[in-house]
Amino acid sequence: MEQPLIRKNISLLRYNTFGVVVTAEYFATIHTSDDLYALKETGATAEHALLIIGKGSNILFTEDFHGLVLHNRIEGIRMIEKTGDEVILETGSGVEWDSFVGYCVEHRYYGTENLSLIPGTAGAAAVQNIGAYGVEAADIILSVTGIDLHTGEKKSFTNKACRFGYRHSLFKTPALRSFFITSVRFRLSLQPRLNLSYPQLVRETEHVSHPDILDVREAVMRVRRSKLPDPEQTGNAGSFFKNPLVSKEKWETLLADYPDMPWHALPGDRFKIPAAWLIEQCGWKGKQTGPCATWHRQPLVIVNLGHATGKEILDFSRAIQKSVYERFAVFLEPEVLIL
Ligand SMILES: Cc1cc2nc3c(=O)[nH]c(=O)nc-3n(C[C@H](O)[C@H](O)[C@H](O)COP(=O)(O)OP(=O)(O)OC[C@H]3O[C@@H](n4cnc5c(N)ncnc54)[C@H](O)[C@@H]3O)c2cc1C
Repeated sequence: MEQPLIRKNISLLRYNTFGVVVTAEYFATIHTSDDLYALKETGATAEHALLIIGKGSNILFTEDFHGLVLHNRIEGIRMIEKTGDEVILETGSGVEWDSFVGYCVEHRYYGTENLSLIPGTAGAAAVQNIGAYGVEAADIILSVTGIDLHTGEKKSFTNKACRFGYRHSLFKTPALRSFFITSVRFRLSLQPRLNLSYPQLVRETEHVSHPDILDVREAVMRVRRSKLPDPEQTGNAGSFFKNPLVSKEKWETLLADYPDMPWHALPGDRFKIPAAWLIEQCGWKGKQTGPCATWHRQPLVIVNLGHATGKEILDFSRAIQKSVYERFAVFLEPEVLIL
């Protein structure tokens, strides 16, 4: 078994969408599961701190990475099963998420279309339980398979075992830190089932009498392009913070003080408050400090305007957190992985 080449002192500039200049002490590209077994045999996965990356679109590096970065390039989409009503597809975890969505839309496999244009890989979509416009990856993932880089054990997790939550999964917990997801299975519908629950999507498809899957994909892409910065042009990692979930008591107090506050009720008497609204109320929309700013159309997105360091972006994010906490007594938890 040929082992993948481990290179030293590699710039991660191309591997993080914030466009931060940092290096990895060691770096290897993974194309197959065999590459992982071969790496384990060399002892490298036990010797070094490990970081698995896809596109680096949800990571903020605040310093060089002292360890081994494993860059995931496991490709391939294959059909596992097709029945009357549904199809089961398996993707290599390094497949670019939006190419997978494009493939599903082209074949009229329903379920991924609302998640169009989210950067990153299929493997990370499971780690992060990506979501947009009323749909989450958890709604369509059947199972996740990978390899524990310390024991070499191959394991599969059913959807339930993945313990998906809001931008959360089992794969984010310390016990699974060295688990490299190699493939993900998705269950998609062959029946035309569209989710147009979001008012923005309704507006964008109004001109079509019977919107189909392609209309939805195109509507999502239009809305996203009008609201979000393109990481190819302006460094960013999408939403920097999660939308906070608050108790009923806290929600009542906030609403008494801010009757215009938007909110969304969740099971278990919890309420989701849009972080973007809280940030905007504190005067941060479009605000710039040195090379960092919030995006003028979406204050939840922090952008690197030039040569910001990870530390500068982190300090900027902390200043936002502080003002939101001081005004609303609500803590904004980062969605981005800060390293
Ligand atoms: C412009 C923009 C818009 C965005 N919009 C959205 C959105 O609408 N909704 C949303 O949910 N997110 C959004 N994001 C965030 C981001 O796209 C997702 O979190 C995406 O899933 C990250 O994929 P990635 O391959 O870049 O992961 P990375 O950033 O490389 O990694 C993210 C995490 O997953 C782990 N990981 C990656 N691959 C594997 C693997 N194979 N096995 C085990 N662990 C792994 C990493 O170690 C890390 O902890 C946006 C980001 C940007 C830049």
